[in-house]
Amino acid sequence: MTIMQLNSFAGGKWLAPKGATRAIRSAVTGEVIAEAGSDGLDFQAMIDFARNTGGPALRAMTFHERAKKLKALALYLQERRDQLYQLSYQTGATLSDSKIDIDGGIGTMLVFASKGRREMPDGHVYLDGEVEQLSRSGSFLGQHVCTPLLGVAVQINAFNFPVWGMLEKLAPSLLAGVPGIVKPATATAYLTEACVRMMDESGIFPAGSFQLITGGTGDLLDRLDAQDIVSFTGSADTALMLRSNPVLLKRGVRFLAEQDSLNASVLGPDATPDTPEFDLFVTEAHREMTAKAGQKCTAIRRMIVPDALVGPLAEALAAKLAATRIGDPGLKTTRMGALASAGQKADVLAKLAVLASETTRICGDADAFEVDGADAASGAFLPPFLLRCDDPDAATAVHELEAFGPVSTIMGYRDIAHAAALMNRGGGSLVGSVITNDPGVARDITLASAAWHGRLYFNNRASMKEATGHGSPLPHMVHGGPGRAGGGEELGGVRGVMHYMQRTAIQGSPDILTAIGNTWVRGAAEITPPAHPFQRTYHEIAIGETIWTEPREISLDDIALFANFTGDTFYAHMDEDAARANPFFPGRVAHGYLILSFAAGLFVEPNPGPVLANTGLNSLSFQKPVSPGDVIRVRLTAKRKTGRTDDYGEVRWNVTVYNQDDEQVAEYELLTMVAYDR
Ligand code: NAP
Repeated sequence: MTIMQLNSFAGGKWLAPKGATRAIRSAVTGEVIAEAGSDGLDFQAMIDFARNTGGPALRAMTFHERAKKLKALALYLQERRDQLYQLSYQTGATLSDSKIDIDGGIGTMLVFASKGRREMPDGHVYLDGEVEQLSRSGSFLGQHVCTPLLGVAVQINAFNFPVWGMLEKLAPSLLAGVPGIVKPATATAYLTEACVRMMDESGIFPAGSFQLITGGTGDLLDRLDAQDIVSFTGSADTALMLRSNPVLLKRGVRFLAEQDSLNASVLGPDATPDTPEFDLFVTEAHREMTAKAGQKCTAIRRMIVPDALVGPLAEALAAKLAATRIGDPGLKTTRMGALASAGQKADVLAKLAVLASETTRICGDADAFEVDGADAASGAFLPPFLLRCDDPDAATAVHELEAFGPVSTIMGYRDIAHAAALMNRGGGSLVGSVITNDPGVARDITLASAAWHGRLYFNNRASMKEATGHGSPLPHMVHGGPGRAGGGEELGGVRGVMHYMQRTAIQGSPDILTAIGNTWVRGAAEITPPAHPFQRTYHEIAIGETIWTEPREISLDDIALFANFTGDTFYAHMDEDAARANPFFPGRVAHGYLILSFAAGLFVEPNPGPVLANTGLNSLSFQKPVSPGDVIRVRLTAKRKTGRTDDYGEVRWNVTVYNQDDEQVAEYELLTMVAYDR
């Protein structure tokens, strides 16, 4: 087999190392398959390329434009994923392990692409929250906005997810508009390198959007400043060393850490062996111990089960583990492949030796297990190790020492408070799971343990068919955890994008806020359109375009007719005495829905035109009762525009209804789809 010479991708060029390289061995055969090194890389030039070329090109695009590119890139990689699977076998991964890494990474990109289109503006400024009224008359307002950092995101990843680890960081940073310098763990960098080569070949993102370092980072971190961010995944020890860098601390460089974690799974007291929850626990625990050979930051390291069920659970799980075929990850029959490297295997064995002082081994013998189709001595193979800890209160290593492989410890609990206390002994975890069909147990554990966890996963007979698994971080949900887990938060939809942006409180007049946010703010100039706005195409409509309608009087007959027509004969509309007795109403009043209906009747333009449909209504409030004899009129203002498809976009209108005394009686946001062409 030819040895892969890994290059770095710097300044738009693929560069071979100029000095010493590190040999990378196959996890399966132990043979050297690649060499990597970063000697000779000009780290300052890489930073400059990101800051001066990649950043400006990314920031010139809108969130939607970047989201579209993310989608295109994800689909490009998807078409070529078979090539990545082939390389992935060398990391010890079975096909299903590779899918977690490769398809998981691509899927994460697709979710960010979709969220970018649906939840972020087709503009350059993200609005965070509502306008704040800072003055009595509204001439001085406040709005929080988020804009991309002007620097570079240095993204350092762990060896266990060479593709997902990169894409789950790049997706939110590219969506934000911040270029990345990716530094994969050397042990599996050949897979990351292959993926970056595809990304480069695709030509989808502009030059400088991403660069790659295979090998060490030299003095890269010392060159960062407050517009940059380091986003790290790996062990707690490396995180501590890197985040203590005095330059990062002095310059206030953001540091996001996803560290190791002693994740726990609790078997609820209701989940006795005759329940579906017991079997579910065994299935989840088995998957977490064997998928990626237990090398997942979210894997279950501690199983916390009722005292009386320690024996039955150990027996059921050990039987399932014993039936797990270990071997060449390329074989279809293999359920668990190899660890990523001989070093990783040695590390796990060393940690098992420490754990031995607090546990007894239920199963797992490193010297006696079968490996299908590969040489157990040459590859980084290990069997699953199930341990039991009889005194989890006195033990420390089982709660603190991460054996990053197929290793997990069962321990008993007395009651829910005890189970939660044991969960919390992890000192901060990425995920804790509870298998229970008792919502009360779920609530008690949430109150006692949520503060120590980034994610709590509950599963039972109702959700088990569709539940995504204890160990799967989802792009929609926050991934990270307090304390030991690093204190970081990745993913979580748009929340994950915000790490790469600066939130700024903007204060000023309504016109200033409207111009910055590209969203009309009450009090800003009203633009009179040359035609009714419903006769104008998406692109013709300008933010701030406003029409005022004719007035319309509301009579008692209108109210009675509306009540009888709709069936809404609530007493406040029908019974003068009863309405008057209500503290909200002076007497019979118009239905809120009548006001809405009349408002639409006043502002619509009935003829066919570019406005295609009314798709919804947000933030409706009825602010003042409308009595018979009151006269309403409506102001309709184009508030925000968001492209949706190749044919039409969404226009949000502010609709405000006034009475004859110019008092607001109702306000809402109307959503319409408007065609680009007539
Ligand atoms: P690691 O040894 O801490 O290495 C992590 C990354 O840091 C690698 O890319 C490594 O590069 C790099 N690194 C090490 N020293 C560095 C330095 N002085 N300057 C710059 N970069 C440096 O962790 P690992 O063994 O790769 O991964 C396993 C650990 O990651 C486990 O503890 C696991 O729990 C954790 N993990 C956490 C998550 C999460 O999301 N929380 C996800 C996956 C894994 P080299 O390989 O070149 O040394």
